[in-house]
Amino acid sequence: MRSIKFETELINKKILLRLDLNVPLESGKITDTTRIDKIIPTLKFLIKKNSKIIILSHIGRPKGKILKELSLKPICLNLENKLQQSVKLLKKNINEINHLDLFKNNDEKIIMLENIRFYDEEEKNDYKFAKHLSSLGDIYVNDAFSCSHRSHASISQITKFLPSYSGLQMEVEMTALRKITSEIKKPITCIIGGSKISTKIDVIKNLISKFDNIIIVGGMANNVIKHMGYEIGKSLHEDNAEKIIEEIFSLSKKGKCNIFFPQDVVVANDKNGVPFQKEIGKISSEEMILDIGEKTIKMIEGIITESKTVFWNGPAGFFENKNFANGSIKIAKKIVDNSKAKKIYSVAGGGDTVSLLNSLNFVNDFDFVSTAGGAFLEYLEGKQLPGITALK
Ligand code: ADP
Ligand code: MG
Repeated sequence: MRSIKFETELINKKILLRLDLNVPLESGKITDTTRIDKIIPTLKFLIKKNSKIIILSHIGRPKGKILKELSLKPICLNLENKLQQSVKLLKKNINEINHLDLFKNNDEKIIMLENIRFYDEEEKNDYKFAKHLSSLGDIYVNDAFSCSHRSHASISQITKFLPSYSGLQMEVEMTALRKITSEIKKPITCIIGGSKISTKIDVIKNLISKFDNIIIVGGMANNVIKHMGYEIGKSLHEDNAEKIIEEIFSLSKKGKCNIFFPQDVVVANDKNGVPFQKEIGKISSEEMILDIGEKTIKMIEGIITESKTVFWNGPAGFFENKNFANGSIKIAKKIVDNSKAKKIYSVAGGGDTVSLLNSLNFVNDFDFVSTAGGAFLEYLEGKQLPGITALK
C-alpha cells in the first residue's frame, strides 16, 4: 500500500479523493463533525502540494436515488469554513460530468461531487461507472478507512484504472488497529450494539473464536431476544436471522466464548414515548425496545471490570432521545473509569458510537477511537478489507 505521505508526484495533479463524510444529520444540520475534522490534515497536505482535489463521498443510504435531504451541501459548507477556502459542490449527474466541468477557472482548487450513493452503480462496484469516475482525475486516494470493508465502485473498482494511494487518516487508523490487535490482553470483551444488524451479525460469528465475552445490546439484541422466544413487539429487528443466531450460540459453546444479551430493557410505544423498565418476557406487542435495563447495565459493568481489553461498537439504545440514552452512557462511563485507572485497554468504533462519546466529552478518555464501525469490526475479525486489498 502506497501512502500519499511519501509521494512526490502529487504536485499539480488532479486527485480523486474518497472520503467518508457520512456524518450524522438532524434536519439538515450536522450533529457531530468528527469524520470531517479527522480528514482536514489530508486536505491541507494536498492543498500544500498544489494538487487539485475532487472529493468523493456518500452520506446515508439513498440506495441509488437522488434524495435532497442526503445532499453533501451541509458538509461542503462545513469544510469551506474549516479550510477557509472555497469547496465547490458539483450537482451535475456524475455520469454526465466530464473533465471540462472541473476546475474551469484557476482559483477552483477543491470540488466535491454529490453523494456517490445517489447512483446504484456505486454499491454494485460497477466497472463502467468506476472507469468514468477515474477519467476525471490523475490519481486516486482512499482516505475512507470506515468504508473500506465495502466492494464499491469508488472504493474498490476505481483502483483498476488509476495509480492508487492511501491517505493520511487511513494510515493512522490502520497503524493503531494493527498495534491493538497484536498486543491484545485477555480477557477480551466486545460490546456490539446499534442498528446495522445485517452488517454486524455475521461479524459476531467470526469474533467468537477470538474473544472471551461478547455482549449484544441495542437493536442487535432484539433479534436475540426474539430468538429466545420472547415478544419484541414493534422493536427494530431483522427478518431471517434465526439460523445465524443459532449458529452464534452453538459456536460460542464450542469456542468457550460467553454471549450475553439484555435480561431487562426500556420500552415505549414509540421513539418519543414514555419510557418503562421491563423484564424481557413482559413486553407487549404494542411496545418497542429502546434501551437496556438497569439489571443488564449492572451485568455489563461487572463484565467490564473482569476484562483487560474492551472493544465497543454500537449504542445500547436509541440514544438520540435522552430517555433512551442511559444504557449507552453507563457503559461509556464504566469503560472510561476503568480505562483511566489503567485496568483495561479501551477501544471504541463507529460513527454513531463516536458521536455519542463526543457528546459526553469522552473521546480522549478511550485508548483508541476509530470513526469506523463495520470496517473496524471486520478488521477485528481478521478479514481482508476489499478497499485495502485494492490499494495493494
Ligand atoms: P455505529 O454508527 O456506531 O456503528 P450503528 O450505525 O450500527 O452504530 O447504529 C447506531 C444507531 O442505532 C443509532 O441511531 C441508535 O439510535 C440506534 N439504536 C440502538 N439501539 C436501538 C434500538 N433498541 N432501537 C432503535 N434504534 C436503536
Ligand atoms: Mg452508524
